[in-house]
Amino acid sequence: MAVEPGDGGGPARYTLRAGELRLDLNARLGQRLTLTHTGAIACTHCGRATRKSFAQGYCYPCFKRLAQCDTCIVKPETCHYFAGTCREPEWGERHCFRPHVVYLANSSGLKVGITRKTQVPTRWLDQGAIQALPILEVDTRQQSGFVETLFKREVADRTNWRAMLKGEVAPLDLVAERDRLLEGLAAGLDELRERFGADAIRPLDEAPVTLDYPVLESPTKVVSLNFDKTPAVGGTLMGLKGQYLMFDTGVINLRKFTGYEVSVG
Ligand SMILES: [Zn+2]
Repeated sequence: MAVEPGDGGGPARYTLRAGELRLDLNARLGQRLTLTHTGAIACTHCGRATRKSFAQGYCYPCFKRLAQCDTCIVKPETCHYFAGTCREPEWGERHCFRPHVVYLANSSGLKVGITRKTQVPTRWLDQGAIQALPILEVDTRQQSGFVETLFKREVADRTNWRAMLKGEVAPLDLVAERDRLLEGLAAGLDELRERFGADAIRPLDEAPVTLDYPVLESPTKVVSLNFDKTPAVGGTLMGLKGQYLMFDTGVINLRKFTGYEVSVG
């Protein structure tokens, strides 16, 4: 499923990609929709059929071989490129040795996150954030990991997805939160600058972004649906937020089922 910012600050646009099919999900709001898993799963990297999906869309050989499936992607501070053990050094140079942004977001309350500069604002939409503010720019993914680790002393780095889907999220003053955190963590940031260079960690002076989602009605009780348990998932489509489809029967995180072949009805 692809999500893009809405035009002129409107709700995000969701497109379901299933094989050759491109389905405008916003247009299906309020209508009945059923997605049925055929039983087939194809690796999103090599296309090979796999009985089980690893790391949200890969076959087991790709999961073990690709740098993008290594644990250092989730925990960038454990980057081991300089030890000469990167699984794919060229991939690492193209993806990890690129400017990264450290941001604050409000998905189910205040959280810190990191992303490649080119992934803004998609990353925020994927998380169902209603507000976001880039606060620092760094030269590499590893550096962003060290900064995030520092911020985790004060702020969550996870989203409570049930609260996010219920829409019970109060707006925050992200600029005030940024100023408070940068002041409180100044000593830690200075240590990182000593290590990586005086301008390795650059403050950003950007305006907060507000994000909106196409939701007719948020669920009051969140029931999680799963193709592995129930191949046919559907009902009346009530909303789209983060990587979730919200039906009147329950919600499904489509990111988890990347590579699953589905038929749409
Ligand atoms: Zn594969």
